[in-house]
Amino acid sequence: MRAETVLVAGVTKSYGRVCAISDVSCELREGETIALVGHNGAGKTTLIKLMLGLIRPTSGTVKVLDEDPASGRFEARQRLGYLPENVSFNLALTGRETLAFYARLKRVPLASIATLLVRVGLGEAADRRVGTYSKGMRQRLGLAQALLGRPRVLLLDEPTTGLDPALRRSFYDIVAELRSDGATVLLSSHALTELEGKADRVVIIDRGAKIADGTLEELRRIAQLPTRIRLRVTEDAADRVNEWARTSGWRRVDGHLLEIDAGPDEKIRLLRSAASADAPVADLDVIPPTLDELYAHFLGAREGGG
Ligand code: ATP
Repeated sequence: MRAETVLVAGVTKSYGRVCAISDVSCELREGETIALVGHNGAGKTTLIKLMLGLIRPTSGTVKVLDEDPASGRFEARQRLGYLPENVSFNLALTGRETLAFYARLKRVPLASIATLLVRVGLGEAADRRVGTYSKGMRQRLGLAQALLGRPRVLLLDEPTTGLDPALRRSFYDIVAELRSDGATVLLSSHALTELEGKADRVVIIDRGAKIADGTLEELRRIAQLPTRIRLRVTEDAADRVNEWARTSGWRRVDGHLLEIDAGPDEKIRLLRSAASADAPVADLDVIPPTLDELYAHFLGAREGGG
């Protein structure tokens, strides 16, 4: 099994009467990309701040790369990269000067800056003042700052906010490179749909507590949500399949499109029946529950359970 990089064991963090994190445990491993999802105020930023050592737990243990991140030891912090939710830079400095400033703080060779700026797509804007940058460009400068020194653990708080679709794609390309390089990447986000296929594992928190943790496949198995099967029947058969569709429970979406929600045990039977002569199928889509639907399910289950 791959080495553990972050350990959160029975951690609670209270601010007076507000319990921001309540008895959360989780381990993150090298080469793993984890999506941390939860509503506003669920505790995502607090959990990230605990991992960074910016705040200490009220009880429980946090270890990052085998050290207490709040110990103040420089070596521990140097191997951590962090992109805060709201990046703010000195607007009078250029992109290159900004990175140089952070590189000195992190004691990273200044020679790596030019490559990093190109990597995040800021090569041409490197010598312009940050004050002239768009929001997306500032976000990318923040990402470059987080990547300084090839950190082993990257904590990115809502990293794709303000990025257009093309930049989001190139952001996820960078995350994939980091993953293959063995880094642990934790991404907190509200943009659930965009995380599908990007994260190896999803951790859901709600009002400070962890309510789900697993790969998308594992969460789908636990949730047992139906899979949507959608099929398009051939033009000439649209009328003919009416009766079959009605009696076997398929909904008609439009003239040739039929849809059904299949429980995990019914999928194969429904697919067989759809492939029969009664329904001349021109095309077929099997749509598993989305991360959005799983998220709603786990939150709902918690509400239901009190
Ligand atoms: P968002 O998606 O809105 O950024 P979040 O999941 O990151 O939310 P946190 O910022 O971790 O949520 O906040 C969790 C809870 O802890 C909230 O109720 C918040 O008000 C509270 N909280 C966080 N920091 C403090 C603080 N310094 N003092 C008091 N309460 C705090």
